[in-house]
Amino acid sequence: MDPDVLVIGGGNAALCAALMAREAGCSVLLLEAAPRDWRGGNSGHTRNLRCMHDAPQDVLVEAYPEEEFWQDLLKVTGGITNEHLARMVIRASSTCRDWMRRHGVHFQPPLSGALHVARTNAFFMGGGKALVNAYYRSAERLGVQVRYASPVDRLEIEDGEFKAAWVGEQRITAKTCVLAAGGFESNREWLREAWGQNARGEWPSDNFLIRGTAFNRGVLLRHLLEDHGADRIGDPTQAHMVAIDARAPLYDGGICTRIDCVSLGVVVNREAERFYDEGEDFWPKRYAIWGRLVAQQPGQTAWSVIDAKAIGRFMPPVFPGVRADSLPELARKLGLDEERFMQTLDAYNGACRVGHFDHTALDDCHTEGLAPAKTHWARPIDTAPFYGYQLRPGVTFTYLGLETDDTAAVRFSGQPSTNLFVAGEMMAGNVLGKGYTAGVGMSIGTAFGRIAGRNAALAATGHPAVRGAVTEKA
Ligand SMILES: Cc1cc2nc3c(=O)[nH]c(=O)nc-3n(C[C@H](O)[C@H](O)[C@H](O)COP(=O)(O)OP(=O)(O)OC[C@H]3O[C@@H](n4cnc5c(N)ncnc54)[C@H](O)[C@@H]3O)c2cc1C
Repeated sequence: MDPDVLVIGGGNAALCAALMAREAGCSVLLLEAAPRDWRGGNSGHTRNLRCMHDAPQDVLVEAYPEEEFWQDLLKVTGGITNEHLARMVIRASSTCRDWMRRHGVHFQPPLSGALHVARTNAFFMGGGKALVNAYYRSAERLGVQVRYASPVDRLEIEDGEFKAAWVGEQRITAKTCVLAAGGFESNREWLREAWGQNARGEWPSDNFLIRGTAFNRGVLLRHLLEDHGADRIGDPTQAHMVAIDARAPLYDGGICTRIDCVSLGVVVNREAERFYDEGEDFWPKRYAIWGRLVAQQPGQTAWSVIDAKAIGRFMPPVFPGVRADSLPELARKLGLDEERFMQTLDAYNGACRVGHFDHTALDDCHTEGLAPAKTHWARPIDTAPFYGYQLRPGVTFTYLGLETDDTAAVRFSGQPSTNLFVAGEMMAGNVLGKGYTAGVGMSIGTAFGRIAGRNAALAATGHPAVRGAVTEKA
């Protein structure tokens, strides 16, 4: 039966929208492109949600006020963000956890030794997979119809109004629709088009790995932008990209392939040269720029090099590093030019001015007279055994999306649709023009998924959309 509200997508944003619309009394059908075993999109890979709070709150320690969250977002985006929508997301992040718990999501108590993240981020017990499973269970219990292996190819839209969706030859009508089908990160042809060819004649994106789902191909994003002229936001080359182990699989490698020892050593490119300050800022604030930095290097690859002093100070990746008892041996094993590698390492080691090493603070260990400098945690790489990890850019999600407003409506030539809404990665570019701060993807998807679901339900029952986030606690 054709539902009141059709939700397209099967990750966090789609599930939040479906649950809200169902709670409001609408019949809801959710179409997930992936088969059941692969359901949940990138949301299944997540660990946490960034949350504002003015005082200690259940799993969150100390305080993380609205202004600090906003300043963090402003800094990482370089101002390419919509302040009104960003502040809505920030405020909504302080009240959504009770609603999430009601739908079966559990949060982890703060971990000792991880106080800086326990202040800003609430961790899901069992990770994103458990969150997604809890939401599906709750949706099914409440009577949301779920269809797997149902990729939507196209929509019928007339004068900005949603009419129907097509899955192959099947036409599905609904009073309203929520689009939550992710970005285009899994579409390698589109990534190629966006990144183009560089001055070296390379197609950089051919060497990218996709950290998450293979199902976010941007089919509906492109269809909306190109065939229906929906208003767009964001730059197609902007994405959350991290440096991951070059041995990671093409899709779905997840968080365990991230290489987190960058700030403890040096990173060299294929020419065995350093190219950026590895100690610029705390790793949780900087890890998301390294995918892009590696993408700009020849062959879109680089090597993170550490010595024995770094062992035990970072989250170990799933693959062991290449180990050697001397630096020349390491260069040979990594396939780097030994002479050039030794020049780079000798220059770095000689430039280190070691003060009081403290990896939990922006310490005073730095280099002098070296370009690029290493501004913190600079200690000579001189203690065997030595380790090297080959890196590749790992794309998490893309920022090109549909422009929206505080009702989550899709817009056509500046006019909001009355019955077509958007949430999650498909609109995250309204808040994230570039950069990233950990956990904000789920804050955006949860806030806008809930707004989209509420407004799709209102529109299905003939009411106008409400502006602003869902704020009630119970
Ligand atoms: C490895 C990894 C770790 C991450 N860790 C975190 C974290 O800890 N905290 C955080 O905030 N963010 C994290 N993120 C980012 C986060 O995953 C996203 O911001 C968030 O999950 C986006 O939710 P979404 O619902 O928009 O997209 P997704 O969860 O990707 O869901 C999109 C859904 O749409 C479906 N779909 C696609 N096309 C179609 C179609 N044509 N028809 C029907 N369905 C379709 C897909 O199958 C999928 O189910 C991480 C991402 C990755 C890859």
